Amino acid sequence: MTLEEKVLDYVRSRRKGALQSDIWKKFDIDSRKCSRIITNLEQNGLVYKKSEVANGRRTYRILSRYGLLMANDMVSPCCGCTGECVPEYCVHLSGWLLKL
Ligand code: SF4
Repeated sequence: MTLEEKVLDYVRSRRKGALQSDIWKKFDIDSRKCSRIITNLEQNGLVYKKSEVANGRRTYRILSRYGLLMANDMVSPCCGCTGECVPEYCVHLSGWLLKL
């Protein structure tokens, strides 16, 4: 697994994403390298970032573009579904929600 994949996994594993300043500390890399990784992920449409102030310093919160459609490694069954939709009784949706 590449460092970029590890960073993406880390961001995806966190419901509220991760602060860029925490990512470079966690992976023991400098902020410039972290910034390049985030830029690559962003250009590939895998993450997006929001400006945020943490501990008095400006940083970015990195969020997965597909985080809300994923439960562990399973894509939401609603993606592309053409079934008659009654979410309260949908076994596919219930099964997926149990994985959250
Ligand atoms: S709730 Fe069930 S039926 Fe409705 S869109 Fe999702 S998977 Fe399809």
